[in-house]
Amino acid sequence: MTEQVIIPDLSFVKDIIASGGDTLKKCFQCAACSVVCSVAPDNRPFPRKEMLYAQWGLKDRLLSSPDIWLCHNCNDCTKYCPRGARPGDVLSAIRQKFIEGNSIPSIMGKIAAQPKMTLLSLAIPFILFLVLLGLTDRLHIHEGEIVYSKFFPIQYIEAVFISAVGLAGIAYLASLVRFWKGMSKGNGKAYSKGFAPAFIEALIEFVKHSRFSKCGPNADRRIVHMLVFYGFAGLFITTTWVTIYYYFFKKYTPILLSDPLKWVANISAAALLIGAVLLFVNRLKDKGFVSKGSSFDWTFAIIILLLCITGILTELIRLADIAFLAYPMYFIHLLLVFYTIVYFPYSKLAHIGYRMTALTYSKMTNKEF
Ligand code: SF4
Ligand code: SF4
Repeated sequence: MTEQVIIPDLSFVKDIIASGGDTLKKCFQCAACSVVCSVAPDNRPFPRKEMLYAQWGLKDRLLSSPDIWLCHNCNDCTKYCPRGARPGDVLSAIRQKFIEGNSIPSIMGKIAAQPKMTLLSLAIPFILFLVLLGLTDRLHIHEGEIVYSKFFPIQYIEAVFISAVGLAGIAYLASLVRFWKGMSKGNGKAYSKGFAPAFIEALIEFVKHSRFSKCGPNADRRIVHMLVFYGFAGLFITTTWVTIYYYFFKKYTPILLSDPLKWVANISAAALLIGAVLLFVNRLKDKGFVSKGSSFDWTFAIIILLLCITGILTELIRLADIAFLAYPMYFIHLLLVFYTIVYFPYSKLAHIGYRMTALTYSKMTNKEF
């Protein structure tokens, strides 16, 4: 028998406990959680083994595991855990520590992990926007019809936001590649399927949110998740659509309410708002097994809610023709959009790429059902 050297990392245990996994030590390894988890594959059940790894501080095993990302945080396991060890919350805390530790550059992960740094994170684009608009003499309430591009021209928006998307995208991709290498190193490269077919399968499953439907008592999370996901997707599409209108059709903002672009944008904003409100309501409703949520989760939920509210108010105030409120509201909304883009790879939203990566790897290695 080969000898295995186990190197526990006690500071990692403390980090998990501090990030919402404070019930970790209650686990006595009965495995009820792995039995009730309908998302876990039969040939690789979780989360019992993750609870053991976390208790022992086996950081490397946890952080190279695709399973922590296959978990959909439904908390069926938490409901049935006889010890109140709340495995759903422990896995959520592990994911949070993973996002922080795997961040590129690491300083961004550290900033995003501390909710008290949120205001400072918003202060950076605030100053950047003030300087940009101040130097170009646009920092005032503009006369006449409210047109946001008089205040923040499309070219400025693109220069600032495309740079932000580009940098965040490169950093995110580098983090996902590092995660893939970690999984391959820790779990092997015995692939039974190619990357492309596995990725397409994973993508279809992800888009349909089919795994969420397997969750039991907390199945309504699927609806909330879909509203937020499709709300963001719709807003991303309409942002690209505006650019196409601007450059290829010379159609400028404000876009008429009767335009299909506006329908998609407004429906997407409504979906995101309903999803964000339900996210709050679900967390506040104490069913006894719903994830308590860490400050990391709450920061994300608050930012999403503010993003929606300011976006909707930006449109309503413009339609009501109240210029002195419209331009400041637009400014605040742009700040939140910038924050969401730049901190995407370090926030709760980062789970989208990590889950897709883990799902693809699991399909390639046949470690999923
Ligand atoms: S987390 Fe709870 S259900 Fe799972 S093994 Fe530990 S005690 Fe049992
Ligand atoms: S939270 Fe849900 S998906 Fe995650 S381990 Fe528990 S039962 Fe499984």
